[in-house]
Amino acid sequence: MRVSRLMLVTLRDDPAEAEIPSHKLLLRAGYIRRLAPGIFAYLPLMWRVLRKVSQVVREEMDAAGALETLLPQLQPADLWRHSGRWAGYTAGEGIMFHLHDRQNRELGLGPTHEEVVTSLAADLLRSYRQLPVNLYQIQTKFRDEIRPRFGLMRGREFIMKDAYSFHADEACLAQTYAAMDRAYRRIFARCGLRALAVEADSGAIGGSASQEFMVTADAGEDLILASPDGHYAANQERAQSLAEPAVPLAVGLRAGGAGEPLATPGQATIEQLCAGHGLHASQVVKVLLLLARFEDGHDQPLLVALRGDQQLNEVKLANAVSGRLGAKHGALLEVAALTPDSLTRAGLDPLPFGFLGPQLGDEPLAGGGGTRSFLRLVDHTAAELETFVCGANQPDRHLLGASWSGLGLNVEGLDLRTAQRGERCLHDPQQRLEASRGIEVGHIFQLGRKYSTAMEACFTTEAGSSEPFWMGCYGIGVSRLAQAAVEQHHDGNGICWPLAIAPFEVLVVPANIADAGQAALAERLYDDLQQAGVEALLDDRSERAGVKFKDGDLLGIPWRAVVGRGAAEGRVELVERSCAGSQELPADGLLAHLLPLLERQRRGLLDG
Ligand code: ATP
Ligand code: MG
Repeated sequence: MRVSRLMLVTLRDDPAEAEIPSHKLLLRAGYIRRLAPGIFAYLPLMWRVLRKVSQVVREEMDAAGALETLLPQLQPADLWRHSGRWAGYTAGEGIMFHLHDRQNRELGLGPTHEEVVTSLAADLLRSYRQLPVNLYQIQTKFRDEIRPRFGLMRGREFIMKDAYSFHADEACLAQTYAAMDRAYRRIFARCGLRALAVEADSGAIGGSASQEFMVTADAGEDLILASPDGHYAANQERAQSLAEPAVPLAVGLRAGGAGEPLATPGQATIEQLCAGHGLHASQVVKVLLLLARFEDGHDQPLLVALRGDQQLNEVKLANAVSGRLGAKHGALLEVAALTPDSLTRAGLDPLPFGFLGPQLGDEPLAGGGGTRSFLRLVDHTAAELETFVCGANQPDRHLLGASWSGLGLNVEGLDLRTAQRGERCLHDPQQRLEASRGIEVGHIFQLGRKYSTAMEACFTTEAGSSEPFWMGCYGIGVSRLAQAAVEQHHDGNGICWPLAIAPFEVLVVPANIADAGQAALAERLYDDLQQAGVEALLDDRSERAGVKFKDGDLLGIPWRAVVGRGAAEGRVELVERSCAGSQELPADGLLAHLLPLLERQRRGLLDG
């Protein structure tokens, strides 16, 4: 390919719309163009990168025994109603684009394909003899993300590889899950990415075990907590740790029972309360009021108690709430904090925010009519306190030295807190969690029988009974991965593509195209490289050498063969983009020198 034919427009300055390096560079180097928020055109160079990533994915999935297929993106709402996910994906914070067709039938644009593939399996897979099966596809997915951002990292239209496996038993599912884990590690290494496997929350996809693959990068949206010994790594959404022990209340303050009244004028925050009375935040039980909205229209007020020095983990909370009420009220659509304003809107009585305690009764809910009650959830760090300080449910007043039994509450501690860096690990309290940022490029799930049970997708076992399939699903964000590679491989001058996914392998640059000798040698090298199976790009533009070198750095092609003044003596300069190392070579020796290097680099980081 010739640069003059490439529609290449590079930008000198960072576009205002981009915040992180990889997004800026892909725009500046002419790889992508934004059409609307979260919607991008992949220009020819980008498409070459995406095809290469897809090919690596394809080869490893094929090698692991998966079958490539292509499933519909337009999906009937009824399929999603059957699995119970239509409302959760379309109402509230749901991310499925959905529409009516001319016959007024409802359809969704596929954000994921569990429903479609499970219905196919129910149709086609009848007997244990046909199992296991693992189907995959590489396709555009649609998600109406609440905050599309960072270019291809969080698009509303993006390319995903998704795979779905069907099994007769759980052991077989575990085997395929392990095979996908190995395939994923090979895929990321071949693409030149340093990726880390971490324990993950299963989110709206559901199921039991799940693991994410994170490309470590400062611009990552996810926080990873890991132990220095390498035995534990988890997304903060799910991570667990040992909280620091609470500072015990001074003996004289441990009233026990229902606690002593404590005047706390204007001390509505934990900081004010602690500063005013010489307390430590771990001696306080704080109470959060929230409202959970469900698919069936039910609004459930929540009263969540945490130790004063702990932060609520919203993902753990949502899991706890839907685990308790999902069967009765359907999908959990949203959990939002109750504020004085929203209390009024929800028809509830005003409450003394800042002075609430876990002993708050259900009376304030009577304002809404009926017999509503709080769902009361207590984090284990709060439940474990013997005596504590908490709000008295009156303005400017707390209780000192209260205890759970003294308040008449029987509590069961749950894990609702957010683990933080520096905290001790569960598996070894000597180890303290370290934090790093990551970009989620892949996610594998053991779904178990969630979808097959809901959608009555069954097969006949060897013993002759009918049972729902065991299922797994396995995603890779192909377009996100390509941008993550830029996030991990760039410098101040531009992109430094890992060779395995670079749009081209070698850029041939005649310094002065008007020099007939240089032009001829460059053409010859360009031909020779292509003859030898090397993906070469020729910068045949009549730009100044400086412009071409700058663009070359920006584009990030791993090798550059510069044909300059040395052309007269049959010499070229070979430059490696990632380390800027350069050497002069006889043009005739270029191929022999370069081919073994390319051969090794095409394997990415596979050999360490
Ligand atoms: P996230 O937590 O980042 O929103 P997710 O957990 O919802 O992602 P999955 O359903 O696990 O995503 O999808 C599989 C893979 O698809 C993800 O690991 C990620 O690499 C990619 N992906 C998900 N959403 C997007 C998006 N909006 N844009 C680009 N890639 C995405
Ligand atoms: Mg995920």
